[in-house]
Amino acid sequence: MTPALSIAPDPVACDPRPDIALAVRLFTELRLRTGAARGITRASYGLGEQIAHDMVRREARKLGMDCRIDAGCNLYMTLRGQRRGPAVMVGSHLDSVPMGGNFDGAAGVLAGLAVAAGYRAAGVLPPQDLTVVAIRAEESTWFSASYIGSRAAFGRLSGAELDGVLRAGDRVALGRAIDAAGGESAQLRAGVPQIDPAQIACFIEPHIEQGPVLVARDRPIGIVTGIRGSFRHRHAACLGAYAHSGATPREVRQDAAMAVARLAVRLDDAWERLAAQGHDLTVTFGQMATDPNEAAFSKVAGRVDFSLDVRSQSHATLDLMRAELRQALAEVESRSRVRFDLGKETTSEPALMDRRIIADLAGIAAAQGAEIMPCGAGHDAAVFAQMGVPTGMIFIRNRNGSHNPDEAMEIEDFAVAAQVLSAFCLQEMPART
Ligand SMILES: [Zn+2]
Repeated sequence: MTPALSIAPDPVACDPRPDIALAVRLFTELRLRTGAARGITRASYGLGEQIAHDMVRREARKLGMDCRIDAGCNLYMTLRGQRRGPAVMVGSHLDSVPMGGNFDGAAGVLAGLAVAAGYRAAGVLPPQDLTVVAIRAEESTWFSASYIGSRAAFGRLSGAELDGVLRAGDRVALGRAIDAAGGESAQLRAGVPQIDPAQIACFIEPHIEQGPVLVARDRPIGIVTGIRGSFRHRHAACLGAYAHSGATPREVRQDAAMAVARLAVRLDDAWERLAAQGHDLTVTFGQMATDPNEAAFSKVAGRVDFSLDVRSQSHATLDLMRAELRQALAEVESRSRVRFDLGKETTSEPALMDRRIIADLAGIAAAQGAEIMPCGAGHDAAVFAQMGVPTGMIFIRNRNGSHNPDEAMEIEDFAVAAQVLSAFCLQEMPART
C-alpha cells in the first residue's frame, strides 16, 4: 500500500519555496497512470516511461519552460535565467524496474520541476538557465546496458549496443526502440553529442537513497561524495573433486565448498582491514551454489559456482582488492588443492562528485544535518562526472530500499531536498575552467 502524500510546512527557510504541491500532484498522477496491482512499471522506451515524459513536459510547458527532446528521447526543460551561457542542469530518470517504486528516478525530475515552479511563482529569475532533464533508460533490467539515456546524450552509445542489446521480454533492439519512441538512432550511431559538457555549469541529481543509511542515522537527506565503481565476476567457479564424505581423508580432499568459504573469509578480512584504514569499500559474494544435481549431503563438493562484486569510490582501492584477490586465490588453491575459474571480469568506473558542489550543498543543508556519504549504486550522475561536468547528488531518505513497490519516501524529506536544490540553483555558478 503506497502511503498517501501530504504537504508539510517547509522545514528549511528558503525563499522562493519549491512548489511541493505540484510534485505531490505529479507523484500521484504517475502512480495512478503507471501503477498496477503491485508497484509501478515504466519500461525504458516503453509505455510507462513515455507517459511520465509526456506528463512532465506538459507541466514544464505550463511553467513557460523551453522543451527540447534529443535523438535519444531525453527531455530538456529550460527555465530561462538572467543571462545565457552554461546552464545548471538538474534531473534524473523516469523509467523504473518492473513492479518498482514510484520515487526511484522520478523524485529527481519532480524536484527540479518543483524548484522551477517555485521560481516562476515568486517571479525569481535564476542567475543562469535552469534545465530540468528527464533522462531515458537508466534501469538496466530492460536493456542490459548501463546509463543508456545519459550516454546517448553525450554521443557515447555504440552501434553494437544499438543493434545487439535487446529489451527483456519483447526482444526489441535498443536502436529500434529509440526510433519507435520518436528518437533518431542514426544520430546516436554516428556518435553525435546531443549536449555539450562545456555548456553545463553543473549537474545535480536528486535521488532516493537505495540503502538504509539515512534512515539509520535519522537524516532527511544526504550529500553524495562519489559513486562507487566496481569490478565483478558474475560467473566464477571453484573446481575441486567430488568424493565420499566419510571415506575421504582431509589431506587428499579437493573441497570446493570449503575453498570458497576460505576465499570469502579471506576477502572479508581484507575488507575489514582496509576499511579500518579509511578505504571506501564493499565486498559481496551474492551467489554461492553447489550443483543441485551432483552435490549431496554425504559428498565433498566438487564444484561451487559463485559471484563476486567489489565496489569502491577509489581506483586505487579497487586495485588493492584485485591484488588481495590474486594472492588469496593462489593461497587457497594450494591449500585446498582446487582451481578457481573467475570467468570474465566486468568493471564500472568510480565517479567522484565535485568538491565545491559537495561543500556548497552541505553548507546550504547544514541546519538539516545532511549526511555526507558515498553512493553504492550506479546513477546517471556518474556519466556526467565522467564527461567532466561538475556533478553532485542529493540523496533523499527512503525506507525499504528501492526497485520494489515498498520503497517509501516521505514528502517532508523530498521537500528538504527540493529546498536545498532551490537555494543551490540561485547561486552564481563559477566559470568552467
Ligand atoms: Zn534510479
